[in-house]
Amino acid sequence: CGIFAYLNYRVPRTRKEIFETLIKGLQRLEYRGYDSAGVAIDGNNNEDKERFIKLVKKRGKVKALEEELYKQDGLDSKADFETHFGIAHTRWATHGVPSAINSHPQRSDKGNEFVVIHNGIITNYKDLRKFLESKGYEFESETDTETIPKLIKYMYDNRESEDTSFSALVERVIQQLEGAFALVFKSIHYPGEAVATRRGSPLLIGVRSKYKLSTEQIPVLYRTCNFENVKNMCNSRMKRLDSSTCLHAVGDKAVEFFFASDASAIIEHTNRVIFLEDDDIAAVTDGKLSIHRLERSASDDPSRAIQTLQ
Ligand code: GLU
Repeated sequence: CGIFAYLNYRVPRTRKEIFETLIKGLQRLEYRGYDSAGVAIDGNNNEDKERFIKLVKKRGKVKALEEELYKQDGLDSKADFETHFGIAHTRWATHGVPSAINSHPQRSDKGNEFVVIHNGIITNYKDLRKFLESKGYEFESETDTETIPKLIKYMYDNRESEDTSFSALVERVIQQLEGAFALVFKSIHYPGEAVATRRGSPLLIGVRSKYKLSTEQIPVLYRTCNFENVKNMCNSRMKRLDSSTCLHAVGDKAVEFFFASDASAIIEHTNRVIFLEDDDIAAVTDGKLSIHRLERSASDDPSRAIQTLQ
């Protein structure tokens, strides 16, 4: 029901600041109604230590989640994170009862290799689940959503090359999905990277940087857009961009990104936003944001989902 995610790149933030940003984001979305809430955060900020993703989920109010988060987090809340990517969600159950296990983020496996937050309904989830179970993926929740992290793990496990990008995996996943979704993905295999996409459910991205993001600092990555478009993104208030034709980058300076299903969770941080359009895939890699649109197959064959998987 409510999506909020936050990525800081070269902007040192303490653990506590990150928690506060995530929780505040969820609180801004509380008015929409929900039955449970959860977050996925980086387990540690030390490159040498083994990476992990920590999941904290709770039935009930965001307040209860906040208490649980502070209780469970064994790390020093003053620890600095130069780069950190956290995702947070309030769930309004459509498939599966309200419970901690059914709440989001949903995960690919017990190692939390891929985690995702989802607004909407996946209408072909039964077929996807059957397919994934036949391949040995074990489900733990009753949600439609859980097919998504399992599917991306399947795509990852069966990737043709070591350098398959995170957004390429997400692209393959959404080609298999029917229904409505706004999604934000996080993975231990792509630390510090975010991928977000949507179809039929709203999702927007806010960008904040103390550096003026002039065109010179945006050595771009653009397909058919002109500089005027890029300048607009950087300088205007709540400017809507045609993200379908552009790939944007915001330079390699310190920058923060906010992902939300609703502008009310972003506006206190920044007024530079990009509204994603259906089938847009937005990825942040090394502090750079790029957006491209999925070329959907022309076929309307409802069995397409399963056929292409095999
Ligand atoms: N269909 C998903 C579920 O029941 C997402 C619900 C929502 O949008 O909060 O878990």
